[in-house]
Amino acid sequence: MRKRFTLQEYKEGVLSGDRTKLSQAITLAESSLESDLNLASDLVQEVLPYTGNSIRIGITGVPGVGKSTFIEAFGQLLVDQGKSVAVLAVDPSSQKSKGSILGDKTRMEKLAGDKRAFIRPSPTGTTLGGVTSKTREAMLLCEAAGFDVILIETVGVGQSETAVKSMVDFFLLLMLAGAGDELQGIKKGIMEMADGLVIHKADGENQINAKKAKSAYQNALHIFPLGQNNWSTPVMTASSTTKEGLSEVWGMIQKYNLQMQASGFWASNRASQRLNWLDENLQFLLGKFFLEHQRVQEILQQNRQRVESGELSPLSLARDLITTFFNPTKN
Ligand code: GDP
Repeated sequence: MRKRFTLQEYKEGVLSGDRTKLSQAITLAESSLESDLNLASDLVQEVLPYTGNSIRIGITGVPGVGKSTFIEAFGQLLVDQGKSVAVLAVDPSSQKSKGSILGDKTRMEKLAGDKRAFIRPSPTGTTLGGVTSKTREAMLLCEAAGFDVILIETVGVGQSETAVKSMVDFFLLLMLAGAGDELQGIKKGIMEMADGLVIHKADGENQINAKKAKSAYQNALHIFPLGQNNWSTPVMTASSTTKEGLSEVWGMIQKYNLQMQASGFWASNRASQRLNWLDENLQFLLGKFFLEHQRVQEILQQNRQRVESGELSPLSLARDLITTFFNPTKN
């Protein structure tokens, strides 16, 4: 049985930076039990005034590009500079694979062992909306616990990038030299989302190719118009093996931070992200309560086959279900 605490105990634990309590608070937020969800949402509300002080960085790239290795090395660099670092993940595929991109902690062994670092495996969830909502809560709890930098890892293969982009200040895309865009599965849209691009594994014989790839991507990025933040995406090379280029990546993020704070984009971006979070929550909670509604489940069960066979229109069943949910006496 999982031990439960009072709201005050969770709050004090999180605010004092107690790792165990922080972990337990995140577990509470990830629970699907109604009572846990209520307590978790009260907790997030209570700690909200203490959030917002971290730099939130999203890191994406296809499997194998070296995200975990990069986070381990980059996290170490930050920790060595005296910063505290929390690592979270959004991995909608974890449900299927029964694992998680951060589940294999051995990949970040050194960082995991550092007392200034906190690594949390990806939450499982049936929908991306559920997973991202939980990651946002985990992020706020980590901020309240006083972490300077939050790194959020995501696999660069689907919608999860858009979700992570909508909760971070800086979105970093890792790429490999010598692999065509298609091969890397990176869509143009993801490149457009990136605030910084790193040609990773730029070491040994790969260095020459990495430099070539850097100019190719620089040219490719030039054709994109500047976004609202007026920032032209830098392309860098780095190696997590030799650690070369890592402090430059941090330098780029700090420069972005200063520039965006000065222009006001930092604050306006966070404000629109909060509204985004509201929309996500509405969709997630509506979906959850709707599908858990007993009568909705019964009618759905009874009529699925009729939709499948083409006898009943999906629209008609969907409308009936909505009526049942919002106006149970009518049905
Ligand atoms: P992920 O799937 O994106 O998380 O990738 P991993 O971090 O698991 O790395 C995939 C492979 O690339 C592993 O075998 C790593 O040892 C290797 N790798 C990661 N970073 C570097 C690097 O900077 N240089 C080289 N040469 N190999 C790397």
